[in-house]
Amino acid sequence: MRRITILGATGSVGQSTIDLIAREPERFDTVALTGGRNIARLAEDAKRLGAKLAVTAHDECLSDLRDALAGSHIEAAAGAGALCEAAARPADWVMSSIVGAAGLEPGLSALSQGATLALANKETLVAAGPLVMARAASTGATILPVDSEHSAAFQCLAGEDPAKVERLILTASGGAFRDWPLEKLAQATPEQAATHPNWSMGQRITIDSASMFNKALEVIEAREFFGITPEKIEVLLHPESLVHALVGHADGALMAHIGPADMRHAIGYALNWPERADLPVARLDLAEIGALTFRRPEAERYPALDLARQVMARGGLSGAVFNAAKERALDEFIAGNLPFMAMADTVAAAMDRAEAESGLIDAEMTLENILRADAMARGWAGDYILGRIDR
Ligand code: NAD
Ligand code: MG
Repeated sequence: MRRITILGATGSVGQSTIDLIAREPERFDTVALTGGRNIARLAEDAKRLGAKLAVTAHDECLSDLRDALAGSHIEAAAGAGALCEAAARPADWVMSSIVGAAGLEPGLSALSQGATLALANKETLVAAGPLVMARAASTGATILPVDSEHSAAFQCLAGEDPAKVERLILTASGGAFRDWPLEKLAQATPEQAATHPNWSMGQRITIDSASMFNKALEVIEAREFFGITPEKIEVLLHPESLVHALVGHADGALMAHIGPADMRHAIGYALNWPERADLPVARLDLAEIGALTFRRPEAERYPALDLARQVMARGGLSGAVFNAAKERALDEFIAGNLPFMAMADTVAAAMDRAEAESGLIDAEMTLENILRADAMARGWAGDYILGRIDR
């Protein structure tokens, strides 16, 4: 039996993970599930999978969770500390699918106990790549990518040395507004941005797909995970979302990973690695699909991509600043306080402000310094939105 824990079990990736493990109850022993405010979902899944522990991120939800688990012998807990304790419970495989920088500390806890970490939470590597990779190296823990593009690249790289790769191409659907006239983007609403042409995902990543902040995070994530230098990483718009990544080898061969837009593929690959298992995903009929198209993303439409290049050039704690400012800008866009295209301006302003804060970006990459940079960046993003600082 493989002992598994799912951090962010009630979300989109978490539910797809549960779908896979619930099909093979004889193979998996569920240690812990964590969630947020959807207590009914968390409790029901904990009971269905026979988890030992269920954790809500919110202290005020603990009594509801206890009530929902009454009579089940499943332990209930709440709060950020309890999330890390859940991640630290001995397990063989831990899914990191909390959204945002909130996933960083639980992910580090899972690595500290040496578990294999299936990493959907891209913010972990963006904010703390070197720290996370060093933690895994020190405990012998394995990190497996779950982001579909990174899982695809990982599969194209099997048996290859990433250092010898000529280029890595990450594809992007282009999101909800890829075909909108540029001048209309200023009026884009959160509801419109949260509609993805191909993938069904959580609200935040769907809006990040429309702005390409998602791809910006993924470029940095790829740089940190594979150690491929920034100039070798490209982004191509691919409206069909069927080719997830391509790896160009030194001899000119380009290996593409093609599959349906179904996260159970990438999750299932990480769950069964190094084996491949029969997964319940659609088999593509390429003759039916007919054509796969690619084009270059427009810089004007997707300013987040250039910001990601700046982060990679700057290094240090700039990834933590970038991600936190983006999270704050996204909060404000969702709340109706910030126009769609102003999210990138907000992040750029926070990055400029961070540069002016002596020693912040070049501080040693410790968890404490990352959390400090994160908190300051959220504050600067807020200041920019309130007009207290300029760009
Ligand atoms: P989601 O919003 O559907 O689910 C997020 C999960 O995190 C929920 O269980 C929620 O309760 C929990 N959560 C939210 N805030 C929290 C906090 N502060 N503390 C603890 N838990 C919290 O998100 P998702 O779409 O499943 O994405 C999860 C992660 O995976 C993100 O980092 C996303 O970028 C990444 N990812 C998602 C997809 C996808 O298809 N959805 C694909 C690739 C990568
Ligand atoms: Mg992705």
